[in-house]
Amino acid sequence: MVHTPAHSGIGGALTYESDAVHVPGTLVRVPLGKRELLGIVWDATDAGQVAPPENTPPDEQATLQLRPISSVLEGIAPLNAHWRQLVQFAASYYQRSAGEVALAALPSQLRDLTPEQWDRRLKRKPKATSPYESTAPHIPTATDEQAQALADIAANTGPFLLYGNTGSGKTEVYLRAAQSVLEQDATAQILVMVPEINLTPQLEERFRARFCPQWGTDCLVAMHSSLTPAQRLKNWLAAHSGEARIVLGTRMAVFASMPHLQLIVVDEEHDPSYKQQEGARYSARDLAVYRGQLEGAKVILGSATPSLESWHHSRPATDTQSAGRYKRLAMPSRVGQGALPLVRRVDMNRQPYKTVFSNHLLDAMRERVTRGEQILVLLNRRGYAPVLSCHDCGWKSECPHCSAYRVFHKLDRTLRCHHCGFTQPVPRACPSCGNLDISPLGRGTEQLEEHLAELLADVRRPDGEPIRIARIDADSTRLKGELERQLAEVHAGAVDVLVGTQMIAKGHDFRRVTLVAALNPDGALFSSDFRAPERLFSLLMQAAGRAGRDASMQTTSPCEMWVQSFHPLHPLFEALKQHDYPAFAEQQLKEREQATLPPFSFQALVRAEARSQEAAQGFLNAARDVGAALADELLVDLYPAVPMTIQRVANIERAQMLIECTSRKALQHFLAHWQGDLHGLRSAHKQVIRWAVDVDPLAI
Ligand SMILES: [Zn+2]
Ligand SMILES: [Zn+2]
Repeated sequence: MVHTPAHSGIGGALTYESDAVHVPGTLVRVPLGKRELLGIVWDATDAGQVAPPENTPPDEQATLQLRPISSVLEGIAPLNAHWRQLVQFAASYYQRSAGEVALAALPSQLRDLTPEQWDRRLKRKPKATSPYESTAPHIPTATDEQAQALADIAANTGPFLLYGNTGSGKTEVYLRAAQSVLEQDATAQILVMVPEINLTPQLEERFRARFCPQWGTDCLVAMHSSLTPAQRLKNWLAAHSGEARIVLGTRMAVFASMPHLQLIVVDEEHDPSYKQQEGARYSARDLAVYRGQLEGAKVILGSATPSLESWHHSRPATDTQSAGRYKRLAMPSRVGQGALPLVRRVDMNRQPYKTVFSNHLLDAMRERVTRGEQILVLLNRRGYAPVLSCHDCGWKSECPHCSAYRVFHKLDRTLRCHHCGFTQPVPRACPSCGNLDISPLGRGTEQLEEHLAELLADVRRPDGEPIRIARIDADSTRLKGELERQLAEVHAGAVDVLVGTQMIAKGHDFRRVTLVAALNPDGALFSSDFRAPERLFSLLMQAAGRAGRDASMQTTSPCEMWVQSFHPLHPLFEALKQHDYPAFAEQQLKEREQATLPPFSFQALVRAEARSQEAAQGFLNAARDVGAALADELLVDLYPAVPMTIQRVANIERAQMLIECTSRKALQHFLAHWQGDLHGLRSAHKQVIRWAVDVDPLAI
């Protein structure tokens, strides 16, 4: 046979000639125009096959002559059918081309090495690795809760939601579940995912200490974006060949080629970092669940504050539709660590206007620093869309048509609902009490670090030295290695007060922290984004978990978490005070159900960028018109276009449009058909620079 098989991009198959038959999944080099590219032989029966590279325009594809495959990448087994199906599913679900998804998932060196370099790479003898130097691992006795969770994992197919308090020992459950998989099958492979690169070294070390003495140094490889291209290729090949038994990585690792995959762990499954924010905007958590089903691998999603989607799926099956999909495993106790901190709320209504730190909090901080204890000050500066509020009567810019708050758009001074599009000019005074002082919620902490230094200037550490305050956020850690250096200083006790954003709340083990303060959490209570309270709760719970990790630090007084709020009696803070995630989740899910928001409906966003807002919105509204009839038929709601919260970036105007439906299937059906119309419309809207669909967006 000649000219088999086909390769394709979004617009249709790219077909190449070949003298030999290549099985699907074979990696090949193919010519496209004047370039030579990496391609994957795709299943010829399928309509949407894989392509050389991203976004080859359909017209370029159409004019292609039938050309021969340049060469085959020798020495690599074909990517298996499960892997190809995972890619195919991800591409169609997230509305991208299979070629883009597939090639982004492969290490860049497969693409970049010339045939000669590739030959040399293959001939290179693997370096003899030194044996892992360690004594037999210390394995703690499993608690009753851990033993019960492990028994449930062994006896059921899952997927499992491992709901374990901070400090309940979820990692020990992962380790033991992995251990039994490795022992039962000499080829079995395990994928462990963490939300952020910063968190990989800690977890990697625990896995190495447990498994390398028995299975060798090469049994585990890492996969994340800070590896060099050569390391990434090496690790990818180790996973692909089955030699690496454990792959530990960030969201990109969900696409690792692992022929004998039997267990997938998604740690901190609620973390928004699992959602890719450009290109194919996939959720690595959701794909992990799909991949588990596809390959018959067990999936464990772990969290102390699960996403409301996962919590909902793990409700008893009788509750509502789509509940009962996951098996919930609960581990409420903290192992070998201090009690959870006492939550103290400060009513900011009783503080002088524009107070940043209440006096009570400052006193508590002084006392602890004097005793040599550490403090975390948490700023909630995650770019929440600004909601206007009246300081006098508490009025907020609610949408009269939705259970959402309207967003303040500074450029044209409007209030817009990001749900239904309802727009009004900003009122001159509070519509409820006439006060002229209405302003965005939750601001005013920009110069906080300097301010704090002044307020605490007279405080001395136990050694008589002045207090040391440090800040960790995206700005202070831009340089490579800077975050690690700053964290090491905190661990060494060189810092007394650490000020930072959500970066400091995650996973770090600060032994001497006994007080955590959250300064301005209110913005998330009244946000245009219905997920903001969920994120805030999870952030505060996580931050609270930073305090009192070392039981010996609690001899003087119990650990505390302080929350300063204008709404101290809000149900979110009530639940926080009790450390009661289930109560918080039930209350939130009730609200979501009443408003038919996810997980009770499904959403997609189309975003467009253009030189003018008019052009961006014009494209989206035209797309809405084109899709209207099909949307009606499928009961899909298409809302009018609105400017994005950050409306203009580098002189490019950005707009978005929300699509909503109570059926995931109907929404998918609609998007698949509508996609073609959008491509078609583009030529009539030449001012549009780019557009993209975001399925299951995490922020509207
Ligand atoms: Zn008012
Ligand atoms: Zn609205």
